Amino acid sequence: MARYVRSFCERRGLKVRADKFGNLLTKYQRGGRKAGWPLLFSAHMDHPGFEALEMVGARGVRAQWRGGVALEFFRGAGVRFLSEGKWVRGIIRRVKPLKSKPGQMRRADTVEVELRGRGQVAKGALGMWDLPGPAIRGKKIHAPACDDIAGVAAMLCLLEVLCRRRVNAAVYLLFTRAEEVGFAGCMSACKAGTVPKRSAIVGIECSTELLTARMGDGPILRVGDRMSVFSPRLEGYCRQTADELSRKDKTFRYQRKLMDGGACESTAFCAYGYEATGVCLALGNYHNMNKREKRIEREYIHLEDLAHMIRWFVALASKRRGYEPKVGAPPPLLEGIRRKHERTLVRTVGK
Ligand SMILES: [Zn+2]
Repeated sequence: MARYVRSFCERRGLKVRADKFGNLLTKYQRGGRKAGWPLLFSAHMDHPGFEALEMVGARGVRAQWRGGVALEFFRGAGVRFLSEGKWVRGIIRRVKPLKSKPGQMRRADTVEVELRGRGQVAKGALGMWDLPGPAIRGKKIHAPACDDIAGVAAMLCLLEVLCRRRVNAAVYLLFTRAEEVGFAGCMSACKAGTVPKRSAIVGIECSTELLTARMGDGPILRVGDRMSVFSPRLEGYCRQTADELSRKDKTFRYQRKLMDGGACESTAFCAYGYEATGVCLALGNYHNMNKREKRIEREYIHLEDLAHMIRWFVALASKRRGYEPKVGAPPPLLEGIRRKHERTLVRTVGK
């Protein structure tokens, strides 16, 4: 993933900097400096998966699990490891759970996989669910991982459009590691100064579809997650841009919701002192869990949601003024209401 991102950017003449944690940062810059802060788009490159610890006997491998998947999905599920350039497949036979408090979701710690055939899995090899490759069905794309490959893809599409149209803009793109263990890559990037202090961060995610945030109704401006609410001014800046886009193009659609089905890196960015908001896609089979069938399956997203999201990002990046973090004059709508009623307020005090 990181190699693909790097070569995609470098082929378009952009320098990519990796910090010591493996997070990647690049900057698209064309034309003079704009007023305000540049936007920084961010998405994580990882997905829940396994790391091989050791072979157990001739046909078994013990592996560490990393990510949020409920315990009942593991036993009997197919897994594949990429070991020395070759895929080695197997079935999970045993699961050791992490200690959990009552009421908490039970999580897996390590698993034991029975390998098919005579495969060897090297220590440190990475593993994933053994699922079929991506396929488009109707307007949806089903893939072993959409979270957050779709977010990364949206950023690369944004970059492609900016380069092709030679847009005057200044935009950072940050690709993070190890989000699925709890924002580890993102927080290390904040702490180490990989993330420019004066940047307005748009964190991109795939987030469980909710009854109030449906797939196909457009990308979602995420005002907050399970843990916190994000920067209100930056959220307003993104909303205003989406409204302008809707006025110009009647087919553009977006939603604005509190997506509290999970937490995302925007919470971490805000906690480390940055201005951040979130934009996400409604995701089906979150973390490969088909909860109805109790089975590991491909995740899916709606392709039109993704297309609208990219157009929104292009509009945000193309804005003539950058983001101004300071509070400016109140909007004319509110000022109008205040002026209209102020005299009545004074006249009716005590009546
Ligand atoms: Zn994610």
